Amino acid sequence: MRKFVLSMSFFGCLTLLNVSCQTEEETPKEARVILITMDGLRWKELFTGADSLLIAHAQYVQDSAALKSKFWRADPQARRKALMPFVWDSIATFGQLYGNREYDNKVDLTNQHFFSYPGYNEILTGTADDKRIHSNDKINNPNITFLEKIASLYPQQERVAAFGSWDVFPFIINEERSKIPVNAGFEIAHTLPLSEREAFLNTLQEQIPSPWGSVRLDAFTHHFALEYLQKKTPLLTYIAYGETDDFAHDGEYDAYLESAHTTDDFLKDLWAFTQKHPLYKNNTLFLVTTDHGRGMNTLDSWRSHGAAFPETQQTWLMAYGKGIAPRGEMKEKQQWYNNQIAASLLRFLGAEDLVTPKMGAALPFVEAPK
Ligand SMILES: [Zn+2]
Repeated sequence: MRKFVLSMSFFGCLTLLNVSCQTEEETPKEARVILITMDGLRWKELFTGADSLLIAHAQYVQDSAALKSKFWRADPQARRKALMPFVWDSIATFGQLYGNREYDNKVDLTNQHFFSYPGYNEILTGTADDKRIHSNDKINNPNITFLEKIASLYPQQERVAAFGSWDVFPFIINEERSKIPVNAGFEIAHTLPLSEREAFLNTLQEQIPSPWGSVRLDAFTHHFALEYLQKKTPLLTYIAYGETDDFAHDGEYDAYLESAHTTDDFLKDLWAFTQKHPLYKNNTLFLVTTDHGRGMNTLDSWRSHGAAFPETQQTWLMAYGKGIAPRGEMKEKQQWYNNQIAASLLRFLGAEDLVTPKMGAALPFVEAPK
């Protein structure tokens, strides 16, 4: 509501001083959501930066001196900022960060598998399904994600879209049943008309080899998502970055850190996009999390995750943008779970009636727009 403003619209009514009047420009914008995951990034790197043992380990790092000059600082606060500057310079000032276990602030999985498909199923459906979702196989998800629930409210309108580096996402989101466009793996952009950038990305994706057979480099996922956001302005967008997990499995701690650093820049890029777009500016909630943790109890367990490594149920969560108070890093004893994200976002998008009793309860700090 505007106060003490003389409206320029003379068609609906004339607004004088402290009298409100609905004009076209005052119609509330539909709140938007961008959900982001960074596959298997440990809370340890997010909250304390590079690991002192791994950054100097010849087996895991090619050029330790160069890596240290980029990411090593004696002070953990400076170190984490060197690794993820947008998170610590910006999100920490206007958002909220959960999962620093040094303060007993915890975010955990509720599924018992601690690997990707069960992790994404839990985030996207709000319910662990240990019996049916117990592998990373390309099996269409029998469960309905909150993405699909929102999409079903807008049939044929393409208000929901997903982008992933891993080629299993079309199955996790059940693209076939949900009809949500899922651009994942090595899929090219094909929503016509292609922008110049999309055409170029399609060509580059053919020409730049990925180190992996089922995961593309995150830059493609990121830029395909950004182009789509420009073009289709979806209400709900899910972006799943994947490199961190794969470089870690490969034992490349340098590439794992570089990837975390680059993804931080992608977060900055997405934030900047929303801040200059009239539909997204001051109107978009960002939630960022991970599908599982990584080992921490032995020197080489950082490469792995899964039920054999109980600490890999440890995750983290960042929230910023619309509906999020600027509280920064949470330093009090708290416990949240990944299964609470789906209900939070349904409620935020005005679809609380689609929350089911099996879902984790909506997170109280994600406030639904008034
Ligand atoms: Zn993995």
